[in-house]
Amino acid sequence: MSGMAEIVYPLFRSIGRGLAHRCPNCGQGRLYGRYLKVEPHCANCNHELADYPADDGPAYLTILLIGHLIIAPLLFFPIIWRSPPQISLPIMLTTLLVVALSALPRIKGGWIGLMYALQVTRRDEHLHTADAAD
Ligand SMILES: [Zn+2]
Repeated sequence: MSGMAEIVYPLFRSIGRGLAHRCPNCGQGRLYGRYLKVEPHCANCNHELADYPADDGPAYLTILLIGHLIIAPLLFFPIIWRSPPQISLPIMLTTLLVVALSALPRIKGGWIGLMYALQVTRRDEHLHTADAAD
């Protein structure tokens, strides 16, 4: 039982720190210098933050989550179909854009937390499936 907790707890802790825009190593330093721009090093513990691969994974996850958790349930509301599209579309697209842009740094932070917990860094990029064909 305790063996499982030893694996799971640090995993959720570092993902939680990333979701909170914090360094996955110490939980104190800021993850971003500005929107989505990961700091090279943690200002608090000097951990190498830019070392974790987060290229299109977070964007893909954001689209997946928004598609499943927001767009799909939204289509069950008849008001979406009954209201004129020149009114409903701009409202929906603006809302989705705002939701996506505010979710992306959190999802990217959680992603970096996950990479931290799994100890995956850019040095492992040769493990990419696209490169394995070479
Ligand atoms: Zn740190």
